Amino acid sequence: MRAAVCYESHMPLKVEELELSPPKANEAEVQLVGAGVCHSDYHFVDGHITPTTLPLVLGHEGAGVVTKIGPGVENVSPGDHIIFSMDAMCGYCRNCTLGRPTLCETYGRVFTMPDGTTRFSKDGRPYYSMVGIGTFADRTVVAADRLVKVRDDVPLEKACLIGCAVITGVGSVVHRAKVEAGTTVVVFGCGGVGLNVIQGAILASAAKIIAVDTVEFKLEKAREMGATDVINASLVEPGPRIAEITGGGADYAFEVVGWPDLVVQAFKSIRPGGTAVMVGVQPPETKITIDAWDLFQDRALIGAFHGSAMPRVDFPWLLDLYMDGRIKLDELITRYRPLDEINEAFEDMNNGVTARTVLTFG
Ligand SMILES: [Zn+2]
Ligand SMILES: [Zn+2]
Repeated sequence: MRAAVCYESHMPLKVEELELSPPKANEAEVQLVGAGVCHSDYHFVDGHITPTTLPLVLGHEGAGVVTKIGPGVENVSPGDHIIFSMDAMCGYCRNCTLGRPTLCETYGRVFTMPDGTTRFSKDGRPYYSMVGIGTFADRTVVAADRLVKVRDDVPLEKACLIGCAVITGVGSVVHRAKVEAGTTVVVFGCGGVGLNVIQGAILASAAKIIAVDTVEFKLEKAREMGATDVINASLVEPGPRIAEITGGGADYAFEVVGWPDLVVQAFKSIRPGGTAVMVGVQPPETKITIDAWDLFQDRALIGAFHGSAMPRVDFPWLLDLYMDGRIKLDELITRYRPLDEINEAFEDMNNGVTARTVLTFG
């Protein structure tokens, strides 16, 4: 099988042949059909996050068909259509029991199988997989817990976006912030996840949905997804404009870039009683400084980890919404590329000319 491998930061990924061991107990093998290219993958390439497990097969957003199962697997069978979950979801730890599987205390976000070994290798050397999945590969073997079986009438090269971009954006709005109908929402950053904060705000019946970005293409996309107002931050100071549109500040602000200064800006854009939500992946050990008096006035600054998702409930729900025409997936996909063009897909993302690129296989 072939996979896109990160050997070190600041180097292009290398697409090459690897060996894939068959699934062991409680594991399954999946043939990939579609894999979304996310900024979180690129974070390992640009050094925003330093990879500690190398070589690393990147990719965490994907969908495919189960090809083999190991002993003890009961949740999926060969032939099932699945979406990969970044969350291990053991189902019995405290957080899983309380409905917070993104914060599963048993497995965490390991870059191996739960037993610490890998199924990818080359010449006997282990190759790690991003969040234990590694979707930039024709085939992958993962803990079966990470597979969510879904309806089989949705094209998998579209369904793949549900696993990261869609659930992270929508979930941050409906699960974490619990945005109420009639409130005002501002989103800083209109990439794949930001566009889905907009979709979440529509589902929540927000009164105003203000999109902020510096790239005109992304603001056009934001309008297409349903933003009521857009602000090009390279031309207009967002704070005063947001205050003007909302009559004194937004009820909710979402930071979806992973830039500490923008978290502060999001917090400053909310009115007393408002909530700012940090969705973007910040560089490790980042500190954020906010004004204590602002916080005192019933404001909240909260984090949202992977949209506080409940994948086994949310993924089928979101696909139903798509099939009923109530959320958009097609509009999020700017182009499809084969696995070999992963570095070109990153380049497009960095140039702001794509919302999402989906890698296709076979
Ligand atoms: Zn992602
Ligand atoms: Zn758990």
